[in-house]
Amino acid sequence: MKFSGLRVLKEGLTGNVGWTPHWRDPEPKPEYDVLIIGGGGHGLSTAYYLAKNHGMTNVAVLEKGYIGGGNIGRNTTIVRANYFLPGNSEFYSHSLKLWEGLEEDLNYNVMHSQRGIINLFHSDGQRDAFVRRGNAMVNQGDDAILLDREGVRAHLPYLDFENTRFPIYGGLYHPRGGTARHDAVAWGYARGADMRGVDLLQNCEVTGIDIENGTVRGVQTTRGAIRAKKVGIVVAGRSSQVAAMAGMRLPIESHVLQAFVTEGLKPCIDHVVTFGMGHFYISQSDKGGLVFGGDLDFYASYASRGNLPTAEHVMEAGMTLMPMIGKAKLLRSWGGIMDMTPDGSPIIDKTDTEGLFIDCGWCYGGFKAVPASGYAFAHLMATGQLHETAAAFRLDRFRTGRGILDEEGTGSQHNLH
Ligand SMILES: Cc1cc2nc3c(=O)[nH]c(=O)nc-3n(C[C@H](O)[C@H](O)[C@H](O)COP(=O)(O)OP(=O)(O)OC[C@H]3O[C@@H](n4cnc5c(N)ncnc54)[C@H](O)[C@@H]3O)c2cc1C
Repeated sequence: MKFSGLRVLKEGLTGNVGWTPHWRDPEPKPEYDVLIIGGGGHGLSTAYYLAKNHGMTNVAVLEKGYIGGGNIGRNTTIVRANYFLPGNSEFYSHSLKLWEGLEEDLNYNVMHSQRGIINLFHSDGQRDAFVRRGNAMVNQGDDAILLDREGVRAHLPYLDFENTRFPIYGGLYHPRGGTARHDAVAWGYARGADMRGVDLLQNCEVTGIDIENGTVRGVQTTRGAIRAKKVGIVVAGRSSQVAAMAGMRLPIESHVLQAFVTEGLKPCIDHVVTFGMGHFYISQSDKGGLVFGGDLDFYASYASRGNLPTAEHVMEAGMTLMPMIGKAKLLRSWGGIMDMTPDGSPIIDKTDTEGLFIDCGWCYGGFKAVPASGYAFAHLMATGQLHETAAAFRLDRFRTGRGILDEEGTGSQHNLH
């Protein structure tokens, strides 16, 4: 089934009866060449690029729930390439380029909107840090424009610039940054993978990983045992639990991150805006809801819901920055489980078990990474070689101390990556 404007028109005029399911619902086969554990954004994009770039189609994605039910359908949808550290910046730069061609590639409307991101700064020191970051972004081939206070005011007139604890000095503007419809990204990759022959097995929880003489042989699932030559673990917040099935102890803590959405409003916020003096960021969805979030709840948990103190903290930061949002009614809040690494950067690597690979540690920034992560992980699983854009994301950096991306040990500070 191919999507096009003409098709939408035809279906609209003929009762919308010609649409078919986006993917099949197959029974598990006894054996595949590759099994991907986890049907989130990263697992689905890996399966897609295995099929598309490497011609590997005897592949199954094993998802314990339903496609799109994990963090891929819970995030605040921000897509950007404004990372600072070498190792990260080239990876996210590659990801943004993939995003820019994604809708055509998938023949699917993921509502990628390059509405621009403005990171505000509120002190001279922060301005210096953003100048460095902006230069790094431009050197990487991405876009960055330093705005002074009047420059920010021209874009974001509704902010409180002066009558506030932290007056706004300016902002770093990243015009190619923006948002995308999160669950459509999962659906688009799922459909693309299925069309190429990948089996998407939902309600199929992996409960064990079969290893013989240091080589992976397959997995145990709630739908029976499945054999495979290669297995990829791509389960985000559940990474430690699934890796433990293979006897691995990962340098990962799972933490809750909350998000919030208001009732639908007329268009009032055109960009993605982040507050430099508190952890608060906001954009407006196409349905009109103001979508915003802040920091982790800061305790390890597998519960996908947060607590009121963090909610209050986020609301206060929002009210400080743009008092007008106090008039909006909050509609919903929810949480997701984040796979936090000690240096705030991901892992895309082989493991000590032959044929077993892992892609995890996306912290709270893995949505924007979905295309490049799948691309690089598929490359690794198909060829056995690290992809050049993801060469820094080695697992053993936490064992040897060499290659830690954040050498100052400041950990998962979002503004330092
Ligand atoms: C509130 C919030 C806001 C965020 N905002 C942003 C943002 O604005 N921009 C950004 O870039 N990132 C953001 N993120 C981070 C981003 O959503 C995640 O880093 C990313 O989605 C994680 O990868 P994934 O999509 O593969 O994860 P998931 O969708 O969670 O996929 C993992 C899948 O593995 C499955 N699974 C787990 N265990 C098993 C098992 N034993 N067997 C089979 N399947 C299993 C799960 O059911 C799940 O579907 C945010 C996250 C949250 C929660």
